Amino acid sequence: MKEEQIYEKIADLLADTRNTVVVTGAGISTEAGIPDFRGEKGIYRTLGEDKVLSLLNIKTFRKKPRDFYDFYRNYFMMPQVKPSRAHCLLAEMEKKGLIRAVVTQNIDNLHQEAGSKRVIAVHGNAERFVCTKFTCNTLVDADYVRNFPEIIPKCPQCESILKPDVVLFGEPIKNHRQARDIILSAQLLVVIGSSLTVYPLAGFVGEYCASRKNFIIINKGPTALDHVSTVKLETNHTGDALEQICNHL
Ligand SMILES: [Zn+2]
Repeated sequence: MKEEQIYEKIADLLADTRNTVVVTGAGISTEAGIPDFRGEKGIYRTLGEDKVLSLLNIKTFRKKPRDFYDFYRNYFMMPQVKPSRAHCLLAEMEKKGLIRAVVTQNIDNLHQEAGSKRVIAVHGNAERFVCTKFTCNTLVDADYVRNFPEIIPKCPQCESILKPDVVLFGEPIKNHRQARDIILSAQLLVVIGSSLTVYPLAGFVGEYCASRKNFIIINKGPTALDHVSTVKLETNHTGDALEQICNHL
């Protein structure tokens, strides 16, 4: 299929149902300036996967919070970035009733910032920190932690240590059931900017595909499920691709 025909086909599939669910991965956020940790210059390559796995781990957080926060502040406390064109288009599409929900692996809060209302973030949200004291559970925003005078941030209510509200290695994903239910109940699933290698989300998408419903992939490079897609759109820029698709709607 020519590119133009692919855009048209995707637009037709989107127009056909009110029950489209979008799954997004790192690819959509690199366009907003967020580094892809698994990408070419990502920390998985530069520091080594073992080091990342051991530092970004719930055990390290509990036993060596200073090591954890030294690392976390260096690599995960990004200066705030703005949503990309793709984030904004997805929010507009939700408003128009073309998208029911976004399930994302990203922790950058950019879908919410762009205006998407129904976002299921399975790896949490790096813009929030939560108090680790069970009876307190106070939430603060990342700016509180950015401006905190010590390396290890403490709760403003009870002075217990704060934890990023993200899923660390050794922790289960968030909203597991909700994410799986909404993916499996979709009539059209669109994966954007993910190579579908991170579980369990990739597993939910695999389960959806087993039902042989329509399945669209918009990504740079191959994914684990290209062979079962209804349409695969290979693109260097998901924002441009979505723009083209919207022009055909
Ligand atoms: Zn507290």
